[in-house]
Amino acid sequence: MTHSRCASYYTASIHQESDHPRLEGDVTVDVAIVGGGFTGVASAVELAERGYRVAIIEANKVGWGASGRNGGQVTGSLSGEAAMRKQMRRTLGQAADDFVWNLRWRGQRIIRERVEKYGIACDLKLGHLQAAWKPSHMAALQADFEACQARDMGEYVELLDARQVRDVIRTELYHGGLLNRYNLHLHPLNLCLGEARVAESLGARIFEDSPVVRIDHGPSPAVITSNGSVHAERVLLAGNAYHRLERRRLGGRLFPASLGIVTTAPLGGLAEAINPHDLAVYDCRFVLDYYRLTADGRLLFGGGANYSGKDSPDIAAELRPRLEATFPQLAGTQIDYAWQGMAGIVVNRIPMLGQLSDNVYYAQGYSGHGVATSHIVGEIMAKAIAGHLEEFDTFAACRHVKVPFGDALGNPLLAVGMWYYQLLERWR
Ligand SMILES: Cc1cc2nc3c(=O)[nH]c(=O)nc-3n(C[C@H](O)[C@H](O)[C@H](O)COP(=O)(O)OP(=O)(O)OC[C@H]3O[C@@H](n4cnc5c(N)ncnc54)[C@H](O)[C@@H]3O)c2cc1C
Repeated sequence: MTHSRCASYYTASIHQESDHPRLEGDVTVDVAIVGGGFTGVASAVELAERGYRVAIIEANKVGWGASGRNGGQVTGSLSGEAAMRKQMRRTLGQAADDFVWNLRWRGQRIIRERVEKYGIACDLKLGHLQAAWKPSHMAALQADFEACQARDMGEYVELLDARQVRDVIRTELYHGGLLNRYNLHLHPLNLCLGEARVAESLGARIFEDSPVVRIDHGPSPAVITSNGSVHAERVLLAGNAYHRLERRRLGGRLFPASLGIVTTAPLGGLAEAINPHDLAVYDCRFVLDYYRLTADGRLLFGGGANYSGKDSPDIAAELRPRLEATFPQLAGTQIDYAWQGMAGIVVNRIPMLGQLSDNVYYAQGYSGHGVATSHIVGEIMAKAIAGHLEEFDTFAACRHVKVPFGDALGNPLLAVGMWYYQLLERWR
């Protein structure tokens, strides 16, 4: 069964809705991509630019999943950085530190260049604040600031104390922050749809309303839907938290967590009053709040997570107190949109890239930090398919925890784990 888009601010402000046929009959391409979110679409653009014949097979609509529902914050805060550095030292030695550091800045560059090159209208703006929720958060921000100075990125960052942070975001909540002018924010659904149009203009074929029910492995693999099949030399599985394919190999490793967002009615002059520099903001907590203004001056506010793998019954009621605690000036403001989406959480938070067989790959699990990462992954997967495997192999060599009976037990265990980490955070 296929599903229409969720009723979100993003859906209501689409520039150009996608309209692709259902897969019927047999199609042959070089690379078949399962899933039309950022991972699938960014990989398709990269591959089509390199001359590959590509098909995207999407169960619902392009950008239907997390890619069309997220906070739109394009930051270099990769999930699982520390774990990544540790594991990648096994393959890269000391070069792992540079590799991970460079990843921090790569997704923003890819997106900016693509948006500029192809003229994708997606409200892209520069500027982000990572805000200290507690005084103890300042140490990590200070360390990041110093790392930027030491590595020639100092011009993009500024460390703010409690007084200075109130000049850029009009809330009393924070004890300081790290301002980053290299990070961006944007309308993710319009970016995803725009990138899909780019892929199509470069020759990619896109099929919607076409859930893949099976992948046939072998020398020439195929993805199978109820009405057709795509035969290819290579297959990329990019279904993230929404797919249930290949359970034997992938089951028990990635768990869906439901994240929610609300958007207020347009705020008029209040928008500039609370966020005069039009920054995207998130705080430093393990499970954080994040927000930014939309192009028409609404506050788009997300926070918390439901680790049961199910949506919350009333996300607007859950988020309103957090929004009003941040901006008491907005008490009672009308909420026009409330929606939820699934992020794919991995236990060690390292993005999962790997192979299911010689010519079938997967890429998933950005643990709630996937806008930049999915674009980096698109580049890495295209390079791998073109025979340049170094970066892919570095990710693929990372070990991931497999939770026994994980498809049944994973989410309850994840919920307990997250509760534990949040408790620890309270004492720090
Ligand atoms: C509410 C929310 C807020 C977030 N905020 C941010 C943020 O501000 N910044 C950030 O960096 N990250 C954020 N994230 C995370 C980010 O959105 C994701 O990591 C990223 O979009 C994942 O992209 P993807 O293409 O891998 O997956 P998705 O966008 O989920 O795409 C997967 C696609 O695969 C399709 N699919 C699944 N199964 C099949 C099948 N069998 N056959 C065919 N198609 C299939 C689905 O329909 C879906 O369209 C947020 C996530 C959520 C949910």
